[in-house]
Amino acid sequence: MGGTMPLLVMKFGGTSVADLSRIKNAAAKVKTEVERGYDVIVIVSAMSGKTNELVGWVESTSPLYDAREYDAVVSSGENVTAGLMALTLQEMDIPARSWQGWQVPIQTTSAHAAARFVDIPRANMDAKFAEGFKVAVVAGFQGVSPEGRITTLGRGGSDTTAVAFAAAFGAERCDIYTDVDGVYTTDPRISPKARKLDKIAFEEMLELASLGAKVLQTRSVELAMRYKVRLRVLSSFEDTDETSGTLVCDEDEIMESKVVSGVAYSRDEAKMTLIRVADRPGVASAIFGPLAEAGVNVDMIVQNISETAAGHSGATTDMTFSVPVNQVARARKAMEEARATGSISYDELVEDTDVAKVSVVGIGMRSQVGVAARMFAALAAENVNIKVIATSEIKISVLIDRKYMELAVQALHDAFELEKA
Ligand code: ADP
Ligand code: ASP
Ligand code: MG
Repeated sequence: MGGTMPLLVMKFGGTSVADLSRIKNAAAKVKTEVERGYDVIVIVSAMSGKTNELVGWVESTSPLYDAREYDAVVSSGENVTAGLMALTLQEMDIPARSWQGWQVPIQTTSAHAAARFVDIPRANMDAKFAEGFKVAVVAGFQGVSPEGRITTLGRGGSDTTAVAFAAAFGAERCDIYTDVDGVYTTDPRISPKARKLDKIAFEEMLELASLGAKVLQTRSVELAMRYKVRLRVLSSFEDTDETSGTLVCDEDEIMESKVVSGVAYSRDEAKMTLIRVADRPGVASAIFGPLAEAGVNVDMIVQNISETAAGHSGATTDMTFSVPVNQVARARKAMEEARATGSISYDELVEDTDVAKVSVVGIGMRSQVGVAARMFAALAAENVNIKVIATSEIKISVLIDRKYMELAVQALHDAFELEKA
């Protein structure tokens, strides 16, 4: 038994711990909460740029790297900031210590570089809070597999560490401190007209995150929704209080109701088309099965109406799908192997690696018609050609040439009048 005090989780992202003075600034925010009577679990990211550097070192050393060693290397950035944050707090006379994932232990699956939480046992940390520690500083983004190897949670994973701790320890709130002061109608770095939202519904944030808005990792929003964590995004560079930032919450808590609440983009997409695939029952499964087995993340899919072309005995179809641009080689290999074994046949595989995905999201779409028409009209007015379309209950996504991505985001932001409250 620890935690007789109310508890907060405070997460600081890479830019918020980018150097020693920023760590001090973050620690001062933690101190304020301790003085208000909270015990605090602080989750830290690596210093900004560090994880990219570590990934680069791994790839240069071993292009087809062992994923277990990848995780051993890329998880290390968070160990440094956790220790430095604990030291900084100690210098401020706050009893604090650092925790690497395995020390908690944060138990995850063994899916290296994309591990998921299995359990966060409270006993070790509760015992330390009971001894008088006020702050536990946890290295974000990492855990330990059943085999005892270090794992990581996928890029941006410290957000998910924060929400998982908030759920496991029943925290009053999970505050995600970052380099913007909340969630905006679109990335404020792309559109100067982006407007900060006071609140956003879990479902909308989930869509925005999964469609590319990297302000929160998708999985963190899923967990917050499932465990009813009060999740807030706010700036580590400004003075903040209980009302700052953006609260991610249930849709009933939200007054504002617009059809579209945000625009998201994902820059690094690729479109692949299998030309003249022999069409028969089971063909989709013969294509997407091997892609899944190869670990390729297929997103949008379009199958053309089947036709019987001159010179072909049976009907053929074209199958188009989108994948992250860095998975094109893997996808091509999977398709070529499937063709070699005879499980599929096609004439040609066409790749377009200069595309981006732009999406509009809003729970209001459930009950409003005409959103797609408005979206397509706005893109047409800017002469942006749409290559693939995908829709679901609360989002519409289009694949377009990457060079039009920013233009498209701005045009859609204007078309749905997102700058107005
Ligand atoms: P951290 O290092 O703190 O985890 P990230 O870089 O992962 O920060 O996420 C914050 C960034 O997310 C912002 O700097 C912003 O450019 C980007 N972003 C994308 N979409 C949005 C949005 N809708 N609202 C706010 N920020 C967004
Ligand atoms: N440092 C890790 C990354 O850059 C995790 C995080 O910052 O959330 O992906
Ligand atoms: Mg992040």
